[in-house]
Amino acid sequence: MNFDINKLLRENIRNLKPYSSARDEFSGDAAVFLDANENPYNSPWNRYPDPHQRILKSKVCEIKNIAVQNIFLGNGSDEPIDLLFRAFCEPGKDNIVSINPTYGMYRVAADTNNIKVNLVPLNGDFGLDDEAVLAAVTSDTKIIFLCSPNNPTGNALNNDGLLKIITGFNGVVVIDEAYIDFCPEKSLLPKLDQYPNLVILQTFSKAWGMAGLRLGMAFAAEPIIDVLSRIKYPYNLSILTQQKGLELLANEKLKTEWVTVILKERDKMIASLTTYPFVIKVFPTDANFVLVKVYDPRGIYQYLVDEKIIVRDRSSIALCEGCLRISIGSPEENATLMEAFDSLV
Ligand SMILES: *Cc1c(COP(=O)(O)O)cnc(C)c1O
Repeated sequence: MNFDINKLLRENIRNLKPYSSARDEFSGDAAVFLDANENPYNSPWNRYPDPHQRILKSKVCEIKNIAVQNIFLGNGSDEPIDLLFRAFCEPGKDNIVSINPTYGMYRVAADTNNIKVNLVPLNGDFGLDDEAVLAAVTSDTKIIFLCSPNNPTGNALNNDGLLKIITGFNGVVVIDEAYIDFCPEKSLLPKLDQYPNLVILQTFSKAWGMAGLRLGMAFAAEPIIDVLSRIKYPYNLSILTQQKGLELLANEKLKTEWVTVILKERDKMIASLTTYPFVIKVFPTDANFVLVKVYDPRGIYQYLVDEKIIVRDRSSIALCEGCLRISIGSPEENATLMEAFDSLV
């Protein structure tokens, strides 16, 4: 690996002078703030939020055991995904490499930024072909997007393969670990400081139960985090998100309990699913969902909709022919799904 962030950045981003907000120029304690054209009434919502999210970040630093200068907080993981494109990929010229099937947002962000996507199929059991991924890289490839555990397949990708890609590529490698709280031992976060080109995405939307708050994380070496921070909207996280996020992060024990219940429910769901005659295969999963191959996926999907149960029809996706993706719900919700399946046979 020969990673030179300055060569990799788009020229306009390299030369960009970031917006300097009132709260950047003075952030200490004072009695009277007349610097940001805020309304003096309607406290506390009248004040702009901390653009650097200092308090929330120090809590994330404590939970993740990662230094604050290696943390970017965004409006969901979607924000750092888009910012990475805007920082590194020249529209109409550059490309990214990713795997197929995977999370749909990489493609949407690429299309939004007019960036081509070179997709490398996963192998038959949804495993990572690291050599094929590296072989898909061209001189215009700036980022490789990988997702582990992968959505919609559910399996974590092989860490040796991921590390070969990280060390074998001179651009940025993004590993999206949105589901890593369900298999924490597989995270690459403890190795972050060994790889200057590695970006790890995590989120509070899944195991932490905060999808509605929109709070995502990117972890990387300081030069990459600095770039993301320079080009983000100055006030990308509202006061509400920062305050409520901080409050909920005090509940780490609760999150651990939820994960324990969800994993137990997942095992039960897998055991039940394998007994139904319309199920062809339940794929192994490291996440809070299972991919299930069935006879007549459209018919089963529609039957469940009529029963007021919504799962995700993934049957039109490459390598997922015949598959439904089922999120693990509460014990009651999962029991409702199994009752519906019982009446189907
Ligand atoms: C759910 C999910 C996310 C989370 O996105 P947020 O914007 O943080 O809610 C990210 N990546 C993948 C692969 C996901 O499935």
